[in-house]
Amino acid sequence: MPEAQAAKKQVGANITPFAQALEQFNRAADILGLDPGLREILRRPKRQLIVSIPTKMDDGSIHVFEGYRVQHNIARGPAKGGIRYHPRVTLDEVKALASWMTWKCAVVNIPFGGGKGGVICDPKSMSQAELERMTRRFTSEISIIIGHDRDIPAPDVYTNPQVMAWMMDTMSMTKGYSTLGVVTGKPITVGGSGGRNEATARGCVVAIEEAMHEKGMKMEGARVAVQGFGNAGSICARLLWEAGAQVVAVSDSQGGIHSSDGLPIDKIIAAKERTGRVGGYRGKVDKISNAALLELPVDVLVPAALEGVITSKNASKVKAKVIAEAANGPTTPKADDILFRKGKMVIPDILANAGGVTVSYFEWVQDLYSFFWETDFIFEHLNNTIRRAFHETLDRATANKTDMRTGAMVLGVDRVAEATRIRGLFP
Ligand code: NAD
Repeated sequence: MPEAQAAKKQVGANITPFAQALEQFNRAADILGLDPGLREILRRPKRQLIVSIPTKMDDGSIHVFEGYRVQHNIARGPAKGGIRYHPRVTLDEVKALASWMTWKCAVVNIPFGGGKGGVICDPKSMSQAELERMTRRFTSEISIIIGHDRDIPAPDVYTNPQVMAWMMDTMSMTKGYSTLGVVTGKPITVGGSGGRNEATARGCVVAIEEAMHEKGMKMEGARVAVQGFGNAGSICARLLWEAGAQVVAVSDSQGGIHSSDGLPIDKIIAAKERTGRVGGYRGKVDKISNAALLELPVDVLVPAALEGVITSKNASKVKAKVIAEAANGPTTPKADDILFRKGKMVIPDILANAGGVTVSYFEWVQDLYSFFWETDFIFEHLNNTIRRAFHETLDRATANKTDMRTGAMVLGVDRVAEATRIRGLFP
């Protein structure tokens, strides 16, 4: 299937993820009045690596997977961004995710550029041994461009701390010494950071608290729906539930569950661990589709799965007052316009889920210094970082009379543009 076609199919919207990212960039570039040359530099990925990953499967056969690593921009520091394992990964999607990383790191003002990687595979149908062999060979193939000083991967959809440990070990074996800072999101025992596992969700909750404050809403009793129940979604649901919100619906790739009385999130996390799906929870709940979950009468909606789920087709049916994008790219530009007109506050992905990369930055610093911090200290700095970024975004949005996404993009693009101008053009 041609690249663009595959990507369109993937997002279920009439726009590919990278086209969506460029549309968001153009809106910010217009407001900033960026000159055409600078625009051209910032909109294009700096490097795109496509690799073949021959992997020995458990039955003795060899399967050649396709993988990508894209470095979108490194004007402010090494590229930084996750690795996604999913059957519908495309280069277009990885380019979009890499560019969002560039703006995200600038929004929270950490000294990284943007990168992202992915492998077309179905990790659910692979054994641990197959996953390990594929991961190690993928790491070896992209080792020519990654490293603690150039490009630092992290977990994303269907990758986790174990996958990061294999990546770190593979890089270390090649070098002949342990190079902890080459990836983040590692297990604590091999250079991981306290708090990294829940950093994305915690940052998202801090952003939701700030948004609720702005809108005169209260956390206690607020009705919440969460789409996606992985690292970002399940921990976000738990933190909101612990803070007194009523989480009325959650879902995963196999569908969702709903109860207007609120769901016991601790029991649903246990059911998901036991059965692999939120639908494995045996309490008194109704089934709900992923599409219907987005349109529930809730106060806060947290899309925490994949791109392109809120489109021009369903945006007018979204009832939540605050939409916090734990996922990357869940809302298309046309949907953004509809939501803005309806007075909804969308906390954009490059702000709402920036807690993950913020603590990844702390992990990288700790690895390079070989000195590890207390988790309380990490959370204090994380909370301050997200709060500051939220208000800087709100200020930009208010000044330009735009939605929060454009506010965040103006903030991020401005910082990267400034770095690019100051560095000048080589040669
Ligand atoms: P994960 O692999 O831990 O979980 C993904 C979840 O999404 C699973 O529950 C899965 O069942 C569900 N899912 C998959 N396809 C779905 C579908 N079509 N409909 C509904 N649910 C579906 O992944 P994650 O790390 O939680 O990532 C989720 C999103 O958050 C992604 O967009 C990712 O880029 C973003 N994100 C994650 C981090 C992080 O630190 N993990 C940081 C920033 C952004």
